[in-house]
Amino acid sequence: MVEFLAGIVKGTLLETNAPLGGHEDWRGILQSMEIPTSVSTNPVLSEALNSLIHDGRISREQALQVYGQPDINAIFALANLVKRSRFDNQIFFNQNLHINTTNICVLACRFCAFRKGPRHSDAYEVSVEEYLHRIEPLSDKIDEVHSVGGLHPTWTIEHYQKLYSSTKKIYPQIHIKSLTAVEIKHLAKRSNISVKETLSKLQTAGLDSIPGGGAEILVDRIRDRICRGKETSKEYLDIHREAHKLGIPTNCTMLFGTIESIEDRITHLELLRELQDETNGFQCFVPYPFLPDFTRLPEAQLATSNEILRTIAISRLMLDNIPHIKAYRMNIGDSVAQMALVSGADDIDGTVGHEEIMHAAGSTTPLDSQVNDLVQLIEDTNQLSVRRNSIYSKFEVIYPNKDENYALPVLN
Ligand code: SF4
Repeated sequence: MVEFLAGIVKGTLLETNAPLGGHEDWRGILQSMEIPTSVSTNPVLSEALNSLIHDGRISREQALQVYGQPDINAIFALANLVKRSRFDNQIFFNQNLHINTTNICVLACRFCAFRKGPRHSDAYEVSVEEYLHRIEPLSDKIDEVHSVGGLHPTWTIEHYQKLYSSTKKIYPQIHIKSLTAVEIKHLAKRSNISVKETLSKLQTAGLDSIPGGGAEILVDRIRDRICRGKETSKEYLDIHREAHKLGIPTNCTMLFGTIESIEDRITHLELLRELQDETNGFQCFVPYPFLPDFTRLPEAQLATSNEILRTIAISRLMLDNIPHIKAYRMNIGDSVAQMALVSGADDIDGTVGHEEIMHAAGSTTPLDSQVNDLVQLIEDTNQLSVRRNSIYSKFEVIYPNKDENYALPVLN
């Protein structure tokens, strides 16, 4: 098999127009791969594999059937096969810094342990100066700053325009991934302009891409119970559609393990798949389970490790048109993330540096990971660590290096 990033060797930077989704002929490659017996002897899984090869995708009914198969190792083997047909043994990561701009929020989603009212003693807002100050010590080590926050009651678009343009002025090489769909809706409303105008102005100020947060479950019956007042499913999709039309790439997410059914999760994946058919603007899908600490959702069913991995695997099988599936270690922890990398995921987030939203809800994933820790985590799955930039156009293979001063120069 020709390696997806042919020519990439240790210590060299590869700048490429390689397709975002890996091997374009991944379905043909899939057909020529050795099929694990656990898959070939399982009628449901082998039918799903045939559908991917010959019809291009699996149906909603097939996804539900695959999800329900008792042999989890066979499901993981199938998802891993599909991952390898696209990206061989490569696992992608980037060096990023998370900065949560404010925890003050006018909404009170029941699953959220992060938000505070403006008068709460732990409420905070990060000024533009403080934001730049946080980037400064890491500016030669990160390719991306990832910023989301609450729906601030007084900030308007001008605040974010200043934030992004000031960041770009000092650190033009750093990719700004920022604002969830509901933050964009809130900003548009507060600034009395359309979503399209909001996005366009922010893009001019320096916004490069949009993370996928806030999708939760794209079923309004569920949203009404877990995050009443947030954008509707249609609004979430419309905002991402608008971004894609402006050439702003976005990610998409799914928060599972609250009160939704498996059917609701598949509906969610179906809606994302439909939008991607139309716009092709999603880069990566990030499924993560609900963490319950300090939230107000006692009826949540929660998700076991088995279920987290099953959901990641089914995402890989269902989302044939969304290139990357991410193991979000901030939420699922390093051990499950490692298993996800052999169960369909091809990407892992990231060096991170600082994170508050998942940690407020109970995450104990270490925040001070050096790049070597992440690379070692990937190596331990017997795969190749490939550092990437935010838009998957520059790549570098990284090997573990025990030197504690080891640092990677920026890629962008
Ligand atoms: S999830 Fe976002 S919108 Fe909802 S309360 Fe938390 S910060 Fe606010």
